[in-house]
Amino acid sequence: MIAIIFLLHMLTYWGIGILLYIFRDKSAGPSLRSVSHVIKTVLLNQSTIPIMTYFASNYILLGETNSMRESINHLVIMLLVEEFGFYYTHRLFHTYFFYKYHKIHHEFYNPIGIAALYCHLSEFLLTNLLPLGMAPIVSSHLISPIDVNLLYFWIFCATLNTVLEHSNLAKNPIRRHYYHHVNGKKNYGVLGILDWMHGTLGLEAFAE
Ligand SMILES: [Zn+2]
Ligand SMILES: [Zn+2]
Repeated sequence: MIAIIFLLHMLTYWGIGILLYIFRDKSAGPSLRSVSHVIKTVLLNQSTIPIMTYFASNYILLGETNSMRESINHLVIMLLVEEFGFYYTHRLFHTYFFYKYHKIHHEFYNPIGIAALYCHLSEFLLTNLLPLGMAPIVSSHLISPIDVNLLYFWIFCATLNTVLEHSNLAKNPIRRHYYHHVNGKKNYGVLGILDWMHGTLGLEAFAE
């Protein structure tokens, strides 16, 4: 399971990320030199995934095939946990003391898909991996033991989403987080629920 999760993540991240890089909006975006720095940093962060997945797997309750209703309930709970974890840890990294770690991720005003996980290791573990791993732990204890295929689907969707969110394709339909790189005081979350509640939702992203 750990190897499949790692492979699924790597293939999705680099497969879609490289494809989006080839077809990126070339009027802006980082130089090749900074791209090689991005690749090295992201690979270093991703090298921690197998060991962190191993830790998380000790707490996830795995079970038989989930019914459609159970699967939907799992996905709803996992999305809410992800939203909660990502929003508040991300906002923490925007405070005066922690921003020195988060500013690495914000080096790109106009990011690219493969820079989605270009960040300090502390941010990668706390903001990216922790909510992602906590989501199936919480849902498998709250709803029912989770089908491993649903877990793979969760990892695939989360990886695809973060790459698309950072893509600088001119017609990128998912612009909320991309806009966060333009205006660092808006759109901290994933779903927009907590941004809406805290008044940090940046709908200007859709006005273009
Ligand atoms: Zn970002
Ligand atoms: Zn940020």
